[in-house]
Amino acid sequence: MSKNLYPALDLARFYQGKSVFVPGGAGFIGSHLVERLLALGARVQVLDNFQTGRRENLPQEVEIVEGCITSATLPAADLIFNLACPASPVHYQRDPIGTWKSSVLGALNILETARQTGARVIHSSTSEVYGDPLEHPQAETYWGNVNPVGRRACYDEGKRAAETLIMDYVRVHHVDARIPRIFNTYGPRMAIDDGRVVSNFIVQALTGQALTFYGDGTTTRSFCYVTDMVEALLRLGAVDGQAGCIVNLGNPAEFSLTELAQMVRRITGCDAPKSQSDRPVDDPKMRKPDISLAGEILNWAPRISLDKGLEMTVQHFKSRLVESGVKQPE
Ligand code: UDP
Repeated sequence: MSKNLYPALDLARFYQGKSVFVPGGAGFIGSHLVERLLALGARVQVLDNFQTGRRENLPQEVEIVEGCITSATLPAADLIFNLACPASPVHYQRDPIGTWKSSVLGALNILETARQTGARVIHSSTSEVYGDPLEHPQAETYWGNVNPVGRRACYDEGKRAAETLIMDYVRVHHVDARIPRIFNTYGPRMAIDDGRVVSNFIVQALTGQALTFYGDGTTTRSFCYVTDMVEALLRLGAVDGQAGCIVNLGNPAEFSLTELAQMVRRITGCDAPKSQSDRPVDDPKMRKPDISLAGEILNWAPRISLDKGLEMTVQHFKSRLVESGVKQPE
């Protein structure tokens, strides 16, 4: 039985009136986070370079500065939630040098700002730090199995280097920084061309195309609905005494790609065929978070099942496709 250290964490009380800076706030997870922060009464400022983020993801009234996290002068704030980095393999491999810079130089810029202003930093890291894991499920104590020179390395090693930097700023400069390792997250506002398996399968099913399997369908992932992820991030920002905390955030329910495809077919009502190509090089064969630490320190666990989350995501993609004039089969 885990200890619930923060059973009555009152997010509204914590965030009300706080100034919160969200680099990458126009992106998928960032925009959901901003929405919740506003609802909790925080004053929010967003920085985004719109490489993968979209203005339409955010309400009109949100202050957005267009700029790059590696070089922008950052505002003073009580908290910084750093979500500024492309996270889908298709996107982060398009400009690998830019990805590494966003991750490492972006973290450096934020940490220097936090050192001077005293801001608390929640820096989004990733399950990709575990690479193609040899331990399953993955706990925070696992050091990972990453190819440092492969095509995924710009993201994986970029995020690992950022983690190193953060921990050194915690130790040397006593910055209050925390590291959530975010596992596969899905939901409304993923980019239609995101390239990830959930958005690809849904868009393919809704537009009468074959579902593109990379490999034989036995690869596994554990998918977390975005509002569950945002709840965990907000909790990590609000708990005291967690400088240097590294914590897995994700939904431990694990599915093969074949199972995911079956669910997408059932929910969309489209009996889409499948096409198969080779697995990408260094593609992790399986992934599943051990979230016991998150349970202990955040009193959090995901609530939305994949079934329910996919239903909401399919509804969202249906309306986006209608808006963009893409024809869906009868
Ligand atoms: N994948 C797939 N078809 C697609 C997109 C992805 O079979 O159209 C596979 C991909 O090779 C990986 C898994 O689905 O094994 C999850 O990929 P995704 O890009 O969603 O996330 P990540 O690799 O970052 O976990």
